[in-house]
Order: sequence, then structure tokens, then C-alpha cells
Amino acid sequence: MLDFFENIKNEFLSYFVPEKVEYTIEGECKKCGKCCNYMYSFDTYTEKEFKFMQLLFPSYRRFYIKGRDENGNLIFACKYVTDEGLCSVYSKRLPMCKKYPAKKIYYPGALHEGCGYKIVKKSFNDYLK
Ligand code: SF4
Ligand code: SF4
Repeated sequence: MLDFFENIKNEFLSYFVPEKVEYTIEGECKKCGKCCNYMYSFDTYTEKEFKFMQLLFPSYRRFYIKGRDENGNLIFACKYVTDEGLCSVYSKRLPMCKKYPAKKIYYPGALHEGCGYKIVKKSFNDYLK
């Protein structure tokens, strides 16, 4: 009977546990420049919305629209990446650049093919530990 009440309590508490998936990032940068040359926005912008965001956040002016992917989503690139794939303003790069790849990758984010980093997902057993 006690177990039953414990289960009810846990069921109740589960509604207040935020759903999250955690990753660890391993590896190191190979300095290929793909992440500066080919990026998506977490929010999907239209061209107009992107221009508006650049007005609100002047640091976004370094990014320009490079094209669209096969799903019609905008692809951005940074004007400060060199032909060799290096950052030409390394000491003044944005906090988001310093943190890349972020500890949490939001769906449907992914690393570039060939990136020196890899995402290690926590398994269910890892959570149990
Ligand atoms: S894609 Fe990965 S390996 Fe290439 S520059 Fe970016 S972080 Fe480094
Ligand atoms: S500022 Fe430098 S690190 Fe950041 S996106 Fe541009 S080239 Fe890449």
C-alpha cells in the first residue's frame, strides 16, 4: 500500500520535472570553418525578420544570408571567416562563437559533418546512475 502512495506521489511530481535531454561534447576543433560558413538560426527567420534582428542586435550584422537549404530554411554565414576557415576577429568574436558547440543542442540542431567535436548523448542508464 505504501508503494502505491509512493507511485502516486512520483507520478504527481513527474508533472513538474522539466523535460530535457543532456549531451556532453567531446573532441576538438579542426579549424575547418564550416560552422562560420554554414549556420542556421535557432528561430527560423524570414529575410525581413533577419534584417529586423540585425537592427536590434548590431552584432548580427556580421552575418549574411547565404542561401536556403532544401527545406527553404535560411542559411547564414559570417563575413569574418577567412578562406582558410579561420576567424579574422578571433579576439572579438561573439560569446556564441566562444561557446560553440554549446553544451545543449536544441532539436533539430546538429554538428557539421566532419566537425572535430562529437555529441555524446546521455543514455537512460546514465540517468539511473
Ligand atoms: S565545424 Fe567543428 S571543427 Fe569545423 S571549425 Fe567549427 S567547431 Fe571547428
Ligand atoms: S566572428 Fe569569427 S568565430 Fe564567430 S562566426 Fe564569425 S568568423 Fe566564426
